[in-house]
Amino acid sequence: MDPKSIDGLLVFDREHIWHPYTSMSNPLPVFPVVSASGVRLVLADGRSLIDGVSSWWTAIHGYNHPVLNKAARKQIRAMSHVMFGGVTHHPARDLASLLLDLAPAPLDKVFFCDSGSVSVEVAVKMAIQYWYARGEKNKKRLITIRSGYHGDTFLAMSLCDPLEGMHHIFRGALPDQFFAEAPKCAFNDPWDERDMESFEGIIRKNHRSIAAAVLEPIVQGAGGMRFYAPEYLRRVRELCDRYGVLLILDEIATGFGKTGTMFACEHAGISPDIMCLGKAVTGGFMSLAATLTTERVSGAISNGDPGVFMHGPTFMANPLACAVAVASTRLLLSMPWRDNIRRIEKQLTAGLSPCRGLAHVADVRVLGAIGVVELDRPVDVAKTVPRFVERGVWLRPFGNVIYTIPPYIISERDLARVTGAIHDVVREGDLAGV
Ligand code: PMP
Repeated sequence: MDPKSIDGLLVFDREHIWHPYTSMSNPLPVFPVVSASGVRLVLADGRSLIDGVSSWWTAIHGYNHPVLNKAARKQIRAMSHVMFGGVTHHPARDLASLLLDLAPAPLDKVFFCDSGSVSVEVAVKMAIQYWYARGEKNKKRLITIRSGYHGDTFLAMSLCDPLEGMHHIFRGALPDQFFAEAPKCAFNDPWDERDMESFEGIIRKNHRSIAAAVLEPIVQGAGGMRFYAPEYLRRVRELCDRYGVLLILDEIATGFGKTGTMFACEHAGISPDIMCLGKAVTGGFMSLAATLTTERVSGAISNGDPGVFMHGPTFMANPLACAVAVASTRLLLSMPWRDNIRRIEKQLTAGLSPCRGLAHVADVRVLGAIGVVELDRPVDVAKTVPRFVERGVWLRPFGNVIYTIPPYIISERDLARVTGAIHDVVREGDLAGV
């Protein structure tokens, strides 16, 4: 078979290429994409699909954006990569300066890395080294909340929900962390003091061995798309301060406007000691992540033993990625992005609320540019994705959840097609696995 043909691609792919969270012997269907532009992915057979998930929360400006392309071309002419050990460059400087301007004070230092999971690893290493440098050598464990997701590397996996995550497979290989109950108060619910009991009880009893609390602020993404009360986050901040525990906020999914504020922690008016960024930082152009921290944390690490931070990825601060990230972030800031996300939020609310009355719908919720229809049973991806494709929409449900987080440039008309497709597919029913 001609390896250049689409059939050749699909046969080779099926035989040799492992896709995310899939089996090689019973793979899920894959769709050959030949190009992407604006909010659309173009398939090999000529069909185009509106991307309702922005390539896993990344492509906030859509695809093939001339501003990002231009920044990439310009940077390639200068240099696409150079090591960061003993070297610096303007793309890293410009991006660090932009991120620190946007991030809540007192975040003041940036450590660049390659992916979200690695930025979580870096954050935890910072926390452990901080306490080590201060002579608190027992503070090495972490507290988090149930239903969380922080990535697929070993430490990050140890912070994912212990039942829904992969703990049972890797038991014995993963560090053992403290898990508090996830908050029950949803984003707009009245505050219920009982929500704090589990977290407070654990931190009060174990703070001497806990280096940091690690949370996704406001939105728990891949662990179930739950939106929780900002008051919970404020209380976590207070408890961390009271018991001498650092607070790490994982803004990898929520950062860059997804919840209506630049970073989700702004809903609670708090600032973490360490913050992880990734996903939309380059507008979905390529992989880049960053871990931000404060002078207090960096100072303790740098002035203590061994006096250096023990991490240094090969592609750290890749100039091409940094240059595109600068262009993407400036592009976002050059637009009335808050109004635009409010527009998306309003339309998602109107477009998804008719799903409420449908069979097997457990909840419909919207926050910022994130719209969620939760069912009362797991959605079969193999069955459901092709139904969206038939309707010209690209969505990728997981667990019990069908969600959309469209590129911010999406038009009213295209967004109506996304919400309409979700409504139609849910109404049609028969989405559960056999
Ligand atoms: N943290 C959160 C909140 C995430 O949503 C993700 C990715 N889904 C990660 C960490 C891991 O990021 P990456 O896939 O880039 O390693």
